[in-house]
Amino acid sequence: MLRRLFPSAFGLRLKPRGELFVSLMAIGLAVALPAVAWIWTTVRTLDRDRRDWTQELQALHQFRLEEAIRTLNADLKARAARAGNPTPSRVSEAGVLFRDLLGDVGDGPPREGVPDGLLVLAADGTPLYPAPAVGVMDPPEADVQGEALVGAFHQRLLTQSMGDAYLGLVAQLVEQKLEGSRSPSGRLYLPSLELAALQQLSREDARFEPTLESLVGRVTRHTAPLMPASQRLFLWREIQRLGARATLPTELAEVLGLAVVQELVGRPVRDQPTAKTVHLSGDGPGQEVWLLPAPGGGVIWLYQLERLHRELEAQVNRSLGPQGYRAQLVPQGDSVSGAGSLQASMGVALPGWALRLDTSVATAELAGSARRQAALQMASVASAVFLGAVLSFLAVRRFLQRVRLTEVRHDFLTTVSHELRTPMTSIRMLIDTLVADPDPQPDRTRAYLEVVSRETLRLGRLVDDYLTFARLERGGMNYDFQPTAPETVVEAAVRSVESRFAAPGCDFRTEIARQLPLIRADAPSLTTALLNLLENAHKYTGADKRILLTVSQCGSTVCFAVTDNGRGFDPRQRSRIFEKFYRAEGPGSPVTGAGLGLHIVKSIVEAHGGRVEVETTPGEGSRFAIHVPATSDESDDSDDSEHSHET
Ligand code: ADP
Repeated sequence: MLRRLFPSAFGLRLKPRGELFVSLMAIGLAVALPAVAWIWTTVRTLDRDRRDWTQELQALHQFRLEEAIRTLNADLKARAARAGNPTPSRVSEAGVLFRDLLGDVGDGPPREGVPDGLLVLAADGTPLYPAPAVGVMDPPEADVQGEALVGAFHQRLLTQSMGDAYLGLVAQLVEQKLEGSRSPSGRLYLPSLELAALQQLSREDARFEPTLESLVGRVTRHTAPLMPASQRLFLWREIQRLGARATLPTELAEVLGLAVVQELVGRPVRDQPTAKTVHLSGDGPGQEVWLLPAPGGGVIWLYQLERLHRELEAQVNRSLGPQGYRAQLVPQGDSVSGAGSLQASMGVALPGWALRLDTSVATAELAGSARRQAALQMASVASAVFLGAVLSFLAVRRFLQRVRLTEVRHDFLTTVSHELRTPMTSIRMLIDTLVADPDPQPDRTRAYLEVVSRETLRLGRLVDDYLTFARLERGGMNYDFQPTAPETVVEAAVRSVESRFAAPGCDFRTEIARQLPLIRADAPSLTTALLNLLENAHKYTGADKRILLTVSQCGSTVCFAVTDNGRGFDPRQRSRIFEKFYRAEGPGSPVTGAGLGLHIVKSIVEAHGGRVEVETTPGEGSRFAIHVPATSDESDDSDDSEHSHET
């Protein structure tokens, strides 16, 4: 089986089994063993790499988490530091500071990095602004006069309407520069009087709009005299009820600030935990506010905790998201859920909170790229092994070719000497007999000479075959292709065998189609090929020979077919009989031969661009057909009737 398979793979015929075995062993030793060892080592290395890599990956995730926490802490520190190091001592300064520090707030949705509110603290840590009643801490001189004027209100009512009475008081306070005048609870009189006047005036009154404008101006201004946040928020709601279309950018900041201050009443602000739950107006659930003290202690930033978390998470996800991580701030006590996440405390900047990093996507992505790398490594090892195998295969093949060449030379010499010696011996024997015969009988002499002639002919054919073979092997066949009539080839071949094929016991016929197209052929070579087929047909048939030579057109080729009723051969050997020196065994007595005839036929026909076909039935006969392509300028062959003749 192996012998049958491998020779075709190696392109040659291996005689000794041992040679094939040794060759396979050589390939095995030279390539397979080192290759297996190499692949095994690579697989082990990759496995170790995978374990190392898993550890490195954990370290990488940990590093990313810590880095994110460091970045967030730095960010919170920077946010706190935005206030600088203010040390306000007066309430009026606190208002300006409040407005200035919140300059970015605007009246749109909260912007990233901008706090929602702030507390301005005095040196002892008590809130200066927003405070429920700022004036209590800092009552101005003018209040006494202010109170006196407001007390005169009822006097005015005797002569004026209520609206006029309020507006009169406003004008008088302005005139006497008593704009900072406050009630004992710290509220400014002037804006309160303006509001009271507006509530009394009809909207059509010419004084309504200017008064409303003036009040809006006072409410939205944070300069001295500073209005307490509670008064500002109260007036603001009233102004809106009166239909003013103004905005108070610091509204949320003041609401938050006031709520926090009310929560902290009586307790030093600095001792408070960082996050406070404060309840904004309305019945909804309380909001958590984050207190972020600025380094100097004069300011505490206020953030709505949920928004701050969203911002910080977004910040981490912006930098780590593309690498496949997802961050979330969770209360520190929460345990890590699942194996694909990692968490660590946020530390001093956000005490009580931890940053949780979902690492599953990053791990999958990195694992994917590691897998690709491993696959690449394996692929390169496999291709190196494959290359090694191919090179070894070629080397072994070359080696076997050399062995085979030596074998061919040896076969050739053995066959040549044997095949030549047989006819030479019989010729010499017959001639010696004739020479030694003192009284030669004409009949016997003639019979001997006929045998000598036959043997000489055989010798000639053998020599011709050897020469042709030698030329083929050297690649030295010089073909002279010419448009040739197929009949020319047939006639030349038939002429050579005529005398022998005409002998009794041989029925030789030819059937040649008319008007065959020309073929592109080297006539002498093609004649040799056809002759070899005819010789074989004669050689491999028994006593009652029936040989038929047909020449016909088959599509674009001209087909020369030789059919005999000889011994045939095993059809499984069909392809092998064209190998040089190959001789198929067949039934009946052995027939001499060198195993070159069909090899020569095939080589010549293939040089003509044609092919050889063979059909055989052991014990019944064979048909060998040569197909040679017709030339393109073929003749008109409408009449394809055949003519035959018998020899
Ligand atoms: P040789 O005839 O010298 O042995 P060939 O190359 O001409 O070498 O033929 C190879 C083999 O093919 C022969 O040994 C023979 O077994 C088989 N063969 C060739 N022609 C015929 C045929 N007409 N009938 C039966 N067997 C044939």
